[in-house]
Amino acid sequence: MRYNRITTGIIDELKSIVGEANVIVDREKMEVYGRDEVSEAMWQHMPEVVVKPENARQISEIMKLANRELVPVTPRGAGTGLAAGAVPVLGGIVLSLERMNRILEVDKENLFMVTEPGVTTGEVQRTARAEGYLYAGDPCSADSSFIGGNVATNAGGNKAVKYGTTSRHIFGVEVVLPNGDIVTLGGKCVKNVTGYDLVHLMVGSEGTLGIVTKIYLKLMPLPKYVADLLVPFDDVEKAINIVPVIMTHGGIIPTCLEFMDNLSIKAAELYLNQQLPYGDAAAYVIVEVDGNSERQVQEDYETIGKLCLENGGLEVFVADNKSTQERIWKARRCYAEALRMISPVYCMEDIVVPVSQIPRALEAINRIAEKYQIKIPCCGHAGDGNIHATLLRENRGEHSWHEVKEKVLEEMYRVVYDLGGNLSGEHGIGAKRKDAMARFMDPVQLNMIRSIKKALDPNLILNPGKVVDVF
Ligand SMILES: Cc1cc2nc3c(=O)[nH]c(=O)nc-3n(C[C@H](O)[C@H](O)[C@H](O)COP(=O)(O)OP(=O)(O)OC[C@H]3O[C@@H](n4cnc5c(N)ncnc54)[C@H](O)[C@@H]3O)c2cc1C
Repeated sequence: MRYNRITTGIIDELKSIVGEANVIVDREKMEVYGRDEVSEAMWQHMPEVVVKPENARQISEIMKLANRELVPVTPRGAGTGLAAGAVPVLGGIVLSLERMNRILEVDKENLFMVTEPGVTTGEVQRTARAEGYLYAGDPCSADSSFIGGNVATNAGGNKAVKYGTTSRHIFGVEVVLPNGDIVTLGGKCVKNVTGYDLVHLMVGSEGTLGIVTKIYLKLMPLPKYVADLLVPFDDVEKAINIVPVIMTHGGIIPTCLEFMDNLSIKAAELYLNQQLPYGDAAAYVIVEVDGNSERQVQEDYETIGKLCLENGGLEVFVADNKSTQERIWKARRCYAEALRMISPVYCMEDIVVPVSQIPRALEAINRIAEKYQIKIPCCGHAGDGNIHATLLRENRGEHSWHEVKEKVLEEMYRVVYDLGGNLSGEHGIGAKRKDAMARFMDPVQLNMIRSIKKALDPNLILNPGKVVDVF
């Protein structure tokens, strides 16, 4: 597909749609819109222009203009993505949702919140909490990511073990389609089989099928009691083996079940500039349980603690108040930033396997790391079978880094697919994993995705170069 360049005429039209102050062409100011949180330079690309609309109507006009002029449009939330999804790899317009940042309604009768896409996830969580509710979406980037970005990537995060990923909480979206049509899919009804499930076609479509401009998300009662356990292990295998044991121990569904290996613990210590308990442990397992009965929560964490100790846990630290809980979660949440202390450039992967296969996946990653002499710290949402295995470049030269990285990824993905898994659990495909997805996904499924893309975006102007190539 050949796209046209942005002309001064297009820029003038964009200014007339969103106002002069909301169109950026200054190179220095546009720089931040040319990357997300993927650290490698090959996944960065400057936009030709950045626009900041304030409502769906303006976005609709921008999409009509982009179709007429055949220029690409890349939707952008907070830019915390880890797949180069918001990077305009083919140039054109970056459409930033940052000005659409209002919470529109907290509907206590139906237990829904209605928001614009540019509200941070943290603000959604805090607003729900202040009203006595839980918004259970909880990516580690909650303080900075936007709720619209979470919807577009179907973000996972810490509480997905018990409460599911973002899609589970989304019952409706207003979307601007690539042709500029504005449509509301779903809404506040908890059931809806009136035609295809288009809400959940949009959720996780990474800005390739439509631009999400309003979100109807479900609130839940806030659990009264929460407790976290931090369990160090002196053996990685024992630590990862405890995951399926906890998950299949009848009756308890933990809210979170996280894993950190020693390199990840060490990186967190460096980043936080503090010693963590058992900082030399081979691995940490972090478990959270919640509920409305204090006794039940206590029974649950005592049972899990006992299971850990019986299976090689060195000690069980219990955090049942906000400040000790925050200390544990700080160490876990800082993973992405902390690794930069060891290697400013890295390649963070997001593999997912059935929970029972987690020990085998980790074993294979360690074997591959040894074979290619590369450090691959592993950390992640083990209770979902989702591990962030991160290849560290350290001092490798450009050529050797790319060569080793490609070989490692190919072997790692092969193992994951053999174990019944997929190459991304929550970060998505974006530009970064597009070619790998084309190699590993069932061709029939790939063609279904291509057909949907072509049907909704015949000119291929919305977020091209992402998820799938269409010819
Ligand atoms: C420190 C750190 C921790 C993280 N932890 C987690 C985690 O625990 N779980 C997890 O799932 N992810 C995690 N991430 C990744 C990232 O935060 C999520 O993918 C998040 O959902 C991206 O939101 P964003 O607003 O930054 O989107 P962006 O990065 O701006 O965009 C991501 C994708 O969504 C599209 N998009 C954004 N907004 C819209 C919209 N309104 N309409 C249509 N398309 C849109 C973009 O085109 C792009 O394809 C983490 C990232 C960092 C840096």
